[in-house]
Amino acid sequence: MNEGLQEYAQRLRVSGQLDASAYGEMIRFRDAELMGLVCKYAMQTRMERAAESIQWLGTIDISSYCKNDCYYCGLRRDNRFAERYRMDLDEILSCCEAGLQHGITNYLIQGGEDLWYTTERITEMIRGMKKLSKDITIFLSLGEKSRAVYQTWKQAGAEGYLLCYQTSDDRFYHKLHPNKMSLLRKKQCLWELKELGYLVGTGFMIGTPYQRITDLADEFAFLRQLAPDMMMVETFLASDGTPFEKERNGVLDLTYFVMALLRLSFPKLYMPVTQTVEFFDRDGMRQGVRAGADIVLVDLTPEQWRKQYHCYQRAVRRGKIGLENMADFKRSLQEADYEIAGIHERICRR
Ligand code: SF4
Repeated sequence: MNEGLQEYAQRLRVSGQLDASAYGEMIRFRDAELMGLVCKYAMQTRMERAAESIQWLGTIDISSYCKNDCYYCGLRRDNRFAERYRMDLDEILSCCEAGLQHGITNYLIQGGEDLWYTTERITEMIRGMKKLSKDITIFLSLGEKSRAVYQTWKQAGAEGYLLCYQTSDDRFYHKLHPNKMSLLRKKQCLWELKELGYLVGTGFMIGTPYQRITDLADEFAFLRQLAPDMMMVETFLASDGTPFEKERNGVLDLTYFVMALLRLSFPKLYMPVTQTVEFFDRDGMRQGVRAGADIVLVDLTPEQWRKQYHCYQRAVRRGKIGLENMADFKRSLQEADYEIAGIHERICRR
């Protein structure tokens, strides 16, 4: 292994900090040995500084409508091939009830930016969920809203908010989004969520068209300022019906590598393994845990809607963990010596 890169890995393990050029070199010149070392350090760091056990986060995809037109996303408004659905309050609550029966205490309610879900409807949903159990943590991922709306939902009982930003660089942002969308507004939302006391989750994709290694390396400085509580790293999958449908998919090993770098740089982060990894690798969830992730997503969306919620490829559905295969997956993690958090463990500020 290149000695300089090994030294960067050791420095990161000890201090949690590198400059952008060092991150860039590690990403550019990574090989299997460096990958192994960085993942080993990431696992150790997770065990020492974040969590010894893996937590479950139940996801409910409430709507496949979206008013926006991000170039990479299968839910984009102009994708006329996308099948659309939205769930009503009763349906959302029964998904939550099913999750509770399996001991899931952390929930992510996500969907496109669907204007049907008014502030009041989401407020009612949050209150309904909290009535089912006070001992749950609710994350919302419903896009860019005004500060007043975020505040209302926080007061209603939502603890966390996930808003992926993709890039902190304006030039690159506009390669991925139409002109009327604004990176400034996205960043403003993230800061407002922080000020309001949310557990803030954010994230980006690996391997989107136009992404350079320097773009990835630069994100560490932005994240140091933002200091999010949770990071989601997805691998880009070219989705049908989008301007990027003929582009190449992202590279999975780079996703794991960046996840491990994030764990070393921000030891206390919550970091889910996202379901896109399973598109490339049947063992993707466990590999993600090996790269420092500490959360596994369980899809609680009813079967009839799961097929229609596809930000990426339909095929990504095949590896999803749902209530039906949660026990098998739990067993496979335990066989690999990963500890699973007990029932009623909640995501909270570290
Ligand atoms: S990424 Fe989000 S905001 Fe953009 S089109 Fe997809 S669901 Fe809508």
